[in-house]
Amino acid sequence: MILFKKVADLHKYLDTQREIGMEIGFVPTMGALHQGHISLIEEARKHNSLVVCSIFVNPSQFNDPADYRKYPSTIDSDIALLENADCDVLLYPSVEEVYPDPDEKSHYELGYLETIMEGKFRPGHFQGVCKVVHRLLKIVGPDNLYIGQKDYQQCLVIKRLLELMGMKDQISLHIAPTLREKDGLAMSSRNARLDAQQRQIAPGIYQTLNLVRKEIKPGNLQLLKEKGMNHLLEKGFRPEYVEIADASTFLPLNEWDGSQKLVVLTAAFLGEIRLIDNLLLN
Ligand code: AMP
Repeated sequence: MILFKKVADLHKYLDTQREIGMEIGFVPTMGALHQGHISLIEEARKHNSLVVCSIFVNPSQFNDPADYRKYPSTIDSDIALLENADCDVLLYPSVEEVYPDPDEKSHYELGYLETIMEGKFRPGHFQGVCKVVHRLLKIVGPDNLYIGQKDYQQCLVIKRLLELMGMKDQISLHIAPTLREKDGLAMSSRNARLDAQQRQIAPGIYQTLNLVRKEIKPGNLQLLKEKGMNHLLEKGFRPEYVEIADASTFLPLNEWDGSQKLVVLTAAFLGEIRLIDNLLLN
């Protein structure tokens, strides 16, 4: 694997690779890699002649400065995992490399995608996500982009970004399923910050999502969402939301006619660690 810290060097290298007909698969990450990330690398490996991963903890997507400061960093083991997964290129840039002009302003028209759920509870988060993904896509110029369903709303935001930037015909978006620990906890870099007691409680998120999946029936959904919130509270979480939405439009639903495809999504704190997860319901 070749490690690039300088954007210009990577750019030059990828130009030569494109010229010889390489197809580029790209997996952007914030590092502290786990098997969930590696499953994206493996998927990219299957379908591309060149696999590029980036590790960049993007300050502009953190609405909570403490969350940014405490974001785990495990670069040595990340490199080992990537080499083991046969990744070809790692971009590991500084903040200055990614944002050479700190005053540059951007705004992406995301509509309701950034006013509900993650957008509502993390103001500015998706603008930050768009800013970094847009920049990384311009640097890497991939044919295929791999992201995880674990961040369901982010998948829709990135789909929208590709449309907004007129990139949707050049870059194919691939959404990979969520990898979980044996007890159902969705793999996440933030799990490393859970203490032993919190780690025991954490699968309660998946149990709550499954409870909703088991009990969903056509009609009013309000009571079931409340039941989900209470289930999390009883287990010791501080839930922000349990929401049921149309799986494709992402619009939250209070009534279900039994035909639409649905997704249940939640965000909940354990101590100061914020965890998110989601499950397709039908
Ligand atoms: P992050 O490093 O958290 O920004 O995640 C980088 C990419 O990995 C994103 O596209 C995530 O959706 C994806 N990802 C994170 N956790 C998982 C998981 N448990 N299973 C599959 N993909 C994941």
